[in-house]
Amino acid sequence: MSSKKRLVDLHTHSIASDGTDSPAELVKKAADAGLAAVALTDHDSLAGLDEAEDAASLHSIHFIRGVEIAVKDEFGELHIVGLWMPKIPSPHMLGALEQLQQNRRERNRHMLEVITGLGMPLDMEEVRAISGGGAIGRPHIALAMKKKGYVLDRKEAFDKYLGYKKKAYVPRILMTPEEGIGLLRDEGAVVVLAHPCLAPTMTEQRLDGILDEFRSYGLTAVEAYHSAHASEKVRLCVELAAKHKLLLSGGSDYHGDNKEGINIGSGMGGNVRIPVHVLEKLERYRLDSGLAV
Ligand code: AMP
Ligand code: ZN
Ligand code: FE
Ligand code: FE
Repeated sequence: MSSKKRLVDLHTHSIASDGTDSPAELVKKAADAGLAAVALTDHDSLAGLDEAEDAASLHSIHFIRGVEIAVKDEFGELHIVGLWMPKIPSPHMLGALEQLQQNRRERNRHMLEVITGLGMPLDMEEVRAISGGGAIGRPHIALAMKKKGYVLDRKEAFDKYLGYKKKAYVPRILMTPEEGIGLLRDEGAVVVLAHPCLAPTMTEQRLDGILDEFRSYGLTAVEAYHSAHASEKVRLCVELAAKHKLLLSGGSDYHGDNKEGINIGSGMGGNVRIPVHVLEKLERYRLDSGLAV
């Protein structure tokens, strides 16, 4: 096995949510990048997993079924990734995902009303045309605004309108951390706190408290390696994970063309490099817990 084969990517998005690659294309890109394994972790959706799994067997790359959900936080939201989601989810899980999609649809409708009210008419069909048919999110609204000439780029759309507490921001109804972590844990998934240091509001003291609390709900791992984590953030995550006896995970958070500059397996200009032993430790933990890998 070449040395490149020793890298993995455990956080990616396809057109089933706000990425731009089909699940099969995404898996092919991961294989072409020489990765040993890839997880697909679309927001609130398991819809891309079967296609991705089929593509993985075709391209001889190990595939992990995943999902990403948002939970409530005093500064907005935190993201939780579930890895090794079951092929047949429980009715409870399917109901919860349907509810999240419903909350998303209502929030999107509301945001389009606000944007239209600001003198920038935009309707759902225009956003849906951009989304590729999966779960619609703010990145799609940003692209639609760009297409209509309301903003120059995605950054302007988020900075002025769509970002947390900006002019057209509408909160989504979210689960509490206890509910969200419990939901994934009860499916037998490895539960990962995604990109803990993405938000500038995260401090060492807060993260310390969050890990203490979330571990009691069933958190398994901390996503230390991520495109938005500078090396000192990676170190902080690694240290705090060790302190709280949590495992490590990592992923690029690849979104295809919807997040410029992030490549599958290597992140932003090569700033992400997740050795396969990170995955192997998660697998060992599962096997020791009597869970399938
Ligand atoms: P949603 O799931 O609809 O709440 O949208 C969340 C997505 O929007 C995330 O995956 C990010 O990629 C993107 N996003 C959130 N905040 C920003 C921001 N300030 N600038 C650019 N993209 C953002
Ligand atoms: Zn996303
Ligand atoms: Fe996220
Ligand atoms: Fe993500």
